[in-house]
Amino acid sequence: MAATEILNRADVVKAPQVRLAPQTEKPSLIGISREDMVKLLVEKGVPERQVKMRVSQLWHWLYVRGVSDFDQMSNVSKDMREMLKEHFSVARPEIVEEQVSNDGTRKWLLRFPPRGAGRPVEIETVYIPEEGRGTLCISSQVGCTLTCSFCHTGTQKLVRNLTAEEILSQLLLARDRLGDFPERYTPQGAIVPAEGRKITNIVMMGMGEPLYNFENVKTALLIASDGDGLSLSKRRITLSTSGIVPEIYRTGEEIGVMLAISLHAVTDELRDMLVPINKKYPLKELMQACRAYPGLSNARRITFEYVMLKDVNDSLEDAKELVKLLKGIPAKINLIPFNPWPGTNYQCSDWEQIEAFADFINQAGYASPIRTPRGRDILAACGQLKSESERMRKVDRLAFEAMMIANHGED
Ligand code: SAH
Ligand code: SF4
Repeated sequence: MAATEILNRADVVKAPQVRLAPQTEKPSLIGISREDMVKLLVEKGVPERQVKMRVSQLWHWLYVRGVSDFDQMSNVSKDMREMLKEHFSVARPEIVEEQVSNDGTRKWLLRFPPRGAGRPVEIETVYIPEEGRGTLCISSQVGCTLTCSFCHTGTQKLVRNLTAEEILSQLLLARDRLGDFPERYTPQGAIVPAEGRKITNIVMMGMGEPLYNFENVKTALLIASDGDGLSLSKRRITLSTSGIVPEIYRTGEEIGVMLAISLHAVTDELRDMLVPINKKYPLKELMQACRAYPGLSNARRITFEYVMLKDVNDSLEDAKELVKLLKGIPAKINLIPFNPWPGTNYQCSDWEQIEAFADFINQAGYASPIRTPRGRDILAACGQLKSESERMRKVDRLAFEAMMIANHGED
């Protein structure tokens, strides 16, 4: 296939068309709790008797209306707006690149300013439209300190935690770009109901290990699920972890979102190799934490992610052990065909093997959807996320894409 044809597979929108106001050095009002907002406003001289009302106004503008400019806050007095502008920011992150896959998946490369003495960082956020729903895949860290052997993100050197603002901004920005904030009001002043929303679900399955950035992830997710703001139900938010056991308990108690576990192996011996954090938190402890996760039922199940690696973890013997391991846990098993990346030694299991594996666990009573790879042509699929600073040179990329097409056809 000619290089030009390969390039045309993804519609790449370059930065100047979508670049928004760069973030300022001013502290952002996005991604902080109501209590902290109260404190900040009082520090800047907002009278105590007004401050609750001011915070409610700001909350509404930021999270229901989605404005990113103080001047759009029409029911806030001019003086107050000037004061807010002088001290704070509500700007969105900078979009370096927006790509649209030929299957409708979108990927944004976002740049965040340095924190402290560091340098600017870039992360990726992915939107996956499906029949009747749309899922936003959010990153929690730049890179990842864990080194799961099949994951591209784990090979990235530069690592830092994203702030709560940076985590939440991914949702706000995606809603901006998808036209997902309500613009119309009914005559009574109520906002047109949120039906037809493009982003119905969020998954913390982008770059990073969310439970190594617990406080910021918690703050961002509690704001995303706040009923007076973004209002995403906690049942529609899924946090995926490689198995940081103490924080799994905390997630259940303090955040209350749905849980996904990157399992990938059914013996400690193999899991130690694929997901090395297993050496610290072995399967027995991990399974105990899962069993204790609050609120589990058939309607609220834990998702176990299982990447299908040819001749590594994909035998029917593995499937049998998997069923045993999960016995008694309300669970669904998400089989993920391995997404290759340049330099990896793993291969994706053959399709017949994936289906046989799925059939086996299905017969044992578990839902076992096979996750269709999405956005492969723009490297947006699981485990392929990696920021610009470390991305492939274009020639490597073209060669890689040609390889992908040869291996997988036009999926
Ligand atoms: N760090 C968290 C969340 C991000 S990874 C975690 O590990 O759970 C999201 C999912 O993609 C995880 O289940 C991860 O194991 C899986 N994944 C990583 N690399 C992959 C690859 N190359 N192909 C398929 N899935 C992959
Ligand atoms: Fe980190 Fe998750 Fe990748 Fe493992 S699979 S290296 S925990 S991002």
